[in-house]
Amino acid sequence: MKIYEKAPAKINLSLDVLHKRDDGYHEVEMIMTMVDLADRLEMEELPRDTIMITSQAGYIPLDEKNLAFQAARLIKDRYDVKKGVYIHLDKQIPVAAGLAGGSSDAAATLRGLNRLWGLNIPEQELRKLGEELGSDVPFCVSGGTALASGRGEKLTYLPSPAPCWVILAKPPINVSTAEIYGALKADEIHRHPDTRQMIQSIENRDFDQMCQALGNVLEEVTLERYPQVRQLKQAMLRMGAEGVLMSGSGPTVFGLVQKESRVTRIYNGLRGFCKQVYVVRILT
Ligand code: ATP
Repeated sequence: MKIYEKAPAKINLSLDVLHKRDDGYHEVEMIMTMVDLADRLEMEELPRDTIMITSQAGYIPLDEKNLAFQAARLIKDRYDVKKGVYIHLDKQIPVAAGLAGGSSDAAATLRGLNRLWGLNIPEQELRKLGEELGSDVPFCVSGGTALASGRGEKLTYLPSPAPCWVILAKPPINVSTAEIYGALKADEIHRHPDTRQMIQSIENRDFDQMCQALGNVLEEVTLERYPQVRQLKQAMLRMGAEGVLMSGSGPTVFGLVQKESRVTRIYNGLRGFCKQVYVVRILT
């Protein structure tokens, strides 16, 4: 039997770091939502007790460094599953882009193997398992729109934001999340985003207020190191995006736009100097 799972990309509408904790993690407040750009996972049971990963993307690890591999091993160990699995990852989400592609693959693997092996693990428990794989994985297990606090694992679900177009543009550089968090001076952040305002804008489905409340404390760090990300942000604003922000630790920048005609214009303008541009919607 083969099963399929989609692993959508996430964007941060807001990302705040409150302080660095004694355990080395950062205490965060993030508002995350999913968009309809997704990896596709195909999973098939193997008679042998082994985990095998393939992908059409030549630039990701296929061994135990792959987050989907780690998710499969975790679920096998925890639920004492003696069967094996073959997972094919059709990567559509750019890698090391701030879009949580790896975390979403891990979450999709947890959901998929739960089905494939008939384990009946409740979703809440899958999210708990996800915590062991990475801070963004619990969110990716259930998707939706949520305020993530703690190190990202404490989730408070929110309604869907106002409908709009999202233009994603990734400059041709890969940015390591660890590098950016490592360079962030949590005690010297100049401007914290207004998380409450963002929550309010989502609850009111107020597009303009949502654009005003966009904020990400990691931008300061990434924009300083990678000027092309700043240029991309400026270009998107100049072309008429109503709100623009870097997602996660970058380098992907997203623009929010209400009108379809405007989105087409911005897409065509960006394609001139940025190869990886996507027009997507927020998943509701
Ligand atoms: P985040 O926003 O959660 O920080 P990201 O989008 O910046 O994540 P990923 O695409 O998840 O970054 O990849 C980060 C690193 O993880 C890559 O360098 C890659 O080698 C490794 N990796 C492990 N498993 C995967 C996977 N399934 N897909 C993509 N990258 C993976």
